[in-house]
Amino acid sequence: MPLTAYSTSREREGDVEQILKQMSAQFEEPYNAADGIPEDWRAYLRIDLQCPSCFVTGAEVVRGAVATKTGKISRQSFFRFTTPGHRQHCDFDTAETANTGVPIL
Ligand SMILES: [Zn+2]
Repeated sequence: MPLTAYSTSREREGDVEQILKQMSAQFEEPYNAADGIPEDWRAYLRIDLQCPSCFVTGAEVVRGAVATKTGKISRQSFFRFTTPGHRQHCDFDTAETANTGVPIL
């Protein structure tokens, strides 16, 4: 579950918030939450974003969990690559690894 992805059009890596804010500026459309992004943005991200480790495309945005009592985001939004999925031995090919580079065994 990478917290960041590589944008081939921008030639840089970014996290969900950074990339969605850039898209908001690019498409001149407001962006409020990771679960409310337009379908044409999602189609764009599937083509544009690559896994930072194995370079597959097909990114989906998964929104962070929100703690109901405080309203504070308890888990950052992340990218999921399921179509066609990560290459074998990719660091991010399990639910337990993030962008730390240290797989949890
Ligand atoms: Zn990967």
